[in-house]
Amino acid sequence: MPTTQSYDAIIVGAGFAGLYMLHRLRRLGMRAQVYEAGSDVGGTWYWNRYPGARCDVESMQYSYSFDDALQQEWSWSERFASQPEILRYAGHVADRLDLRRDIQFDTRVTSAHFDAKRALWQVATDRGDRVTARFCVMATGCLSAARLPEIPGRDSFAGPTYHTGAWPHEGVDFTGRRVAVIGTGSSAIQAIPVIARQAAHVTVFQRTPNFSIPSRNAPMDAEYENWWKSDYAAHRAKARAMRTGILYGLNDKSALEVSEEERQAEYERRWANGGTAFMGAFSDLITNRQANDTAAEFVRNKIRGMVRDPKVAEILAPKSHPIGTKRICVDTEYYETFNRPNVALVDVAATPIEAITPAGVRTAAGEVAVDDIVFATGFDAMTGALAAIEIRGRDGIDLAAKWAEGPRTYLGLMSAGFPNLFMITGPGSPSVLSNMIVSIEQHVDWLTDCIAHLRARGLDTIEPTQEAEDGWVAHGNEVAHRTLYPSAASWYMGANIPGKPRVFLPYIGGVGVYREKCDAIAAAGYEGFRLGGQNQAAAAE
Ligand SMILES: Cc1cc2nc3c(=O)[nH]c(=O)nc-3n(C[C@H](O)[C@H](O)[C@H](O)COP(=O)(O)OP(=O)(O)OC[C@H]3O[C@@H](n4cnc5c(N)ncnc54)[C@H](O)[C@@H]3O)c2cc1C
Repeated sequence: MPTTQSYDAIIVGAGFAGLYMLHRLRRLGMRAQVYEAGSDVGGTWYWNRYPGARCDVESMQYSYSFDDALQQEWSWSERFASQPEILRYAGHVADRLDLRRDIQFDTRVTSAHFDAKRALWQVATDRGDRVTARFCVMATGCLSAARLPEIPGRDSFAGPTYHTGAWPHEGVDFTGRRVAVIGTGSSAIQAIPVIARQAAHVTVFQRTPNFSIPSRNAPMDAEYENWWKSDYAAHRAKARAMRTGILYGLNDKSALEVSEEERQAEYERRWANGGTAFMGAFSDLITNRQANDTAAEFVRNKIRGMVRDPKVAEILAPKSHPIGTKRICVDTEYYETFNRPNVALVDVAATPIEAITPAGVRTAAGEVAVDDIVFATGFDAMTGALAAIEIRGRDGIDLAAKWAEGPRTYLGLMSAGFPNLFMITGPGSPSVLSNMIVSIEQHVDWLTDCIAHLRARGLDTIEPTQEAEDGWVAHGNEVAHRTLYPSAASWYMGANIPGKPRVFLPYIGGVGVYREKCDAIAAAGYEGFRLGGQNQAAAAE
């Protein structure tokens, strides 16, 4: 039954952000309602059920830290958790905190309009709910708006098609089938080795090769688990201060100040350990092109060593962007998969896809007949899920229109003109450049304190000033341009979506630095924000 109720807060999304937000708001004694488009909790881990889906932050770190009993009780079975295990974890948290009773599943929020007279958000869903709330929290996810490429004839294919980000729950049996995989980003790199072991034949269509580091995934090492659990609080505190929110060894030397021998030894050591800690090999890998080249060439040489056909190896070896400036991938036998007799690589940069036909995929070099197509083509990152909701703020201003030239926020938490509308891990915050659970917890904790602050003072609204927002946008751009990141045509820049403005979306200043800034702003009485009572809200209309 559609409702027309009034709540203290509406939360959109029941991934890790929405779940924790609900828990914290309940603790404040608030009535919060969550709407979730999926049929259960988990967000990313609910939707992305493709074969090989796995976290590339270590399990001991990719988990909530807010409840010590929870982190002590839960046991991860592998160094890097698989999607089913992370989904079980999300379900466990929802049960343990009894969260589901305030979540309405299979319900998509379609609009959120601010009523300035009453200082309330009016929220509508595709199920006919029309509800109001003082606060509206967008926990809609950075990577939740799956994107299909604009290829002529895309819908004419006669067989089944799949997107990695909306994988069928019952799984897909590729036995005996010829499969096309379009895309070679993180999801493809995880899925291709697993699909290739099952399918009769796999053709991979690659436009841009990505750097990938072996995960060295393994069953959880009991000693390592104990090390974390023996002092979880202290280890987590250290992780929160890191640039990425992930605890790993950072070498503070420049790649250019050491001998060739020492440099190679450091890369070899990190390659052998596996995972994204590879990028911590030297301090200047993301700021100095010459330093970066040494790491990039090391990985290219590894690819050349793993892939037997030199032509295929060269196509797989990324040369168009510095290593780490596009999301670095973590894999299990990705490059080795191209040595299999049932796997072929098509270089779409050389022979572009012209069309999808009823029988398969046609490139300039001819048609590849397949039975199934897997689109591993990623997401409309960071802004896609928000743009899909009609969000109107003060004076009816439309968020999508305001952001037509790129998202503008203060701290990635709020946007001027949209009082009491919060984004968790929004554009302009470290978000996708970090261990996202660390960033989610930081945002939720900050927001909870902020709402408690308003309530304690009998205030109704909070909204960033235009000056604070402009300053934050300028600061974000300035910090990004001190690094090599903007030199890559990546989804961090919106470059995977035709027509999307090229703006560096996440805040690159680092999780630790960012947290300090947010805390300082709160301690200074929410500097850069305008706090008001209902009367002020109406007066400002
Ligand atoms: C394949 C993949 C691998 C990843 N691996 C890592 C990793 O290794 N480490 C890492 O830190 N992060 C990783 N991420 C990022 C991951 O998204 C975050 O770690 C985290 O799960 C985000 O949680 P969230 O709650 O913010 O968003 P999500 O998990 O995306 O949840 C958002 C939810 O909001 C719902 N929603 C959106 N719009 C609406 C609407 N209008 N109405 C109702 N519901 C709506 C969606 O259905 C979704 O369930 C990965 C992402 C993907 C896609």
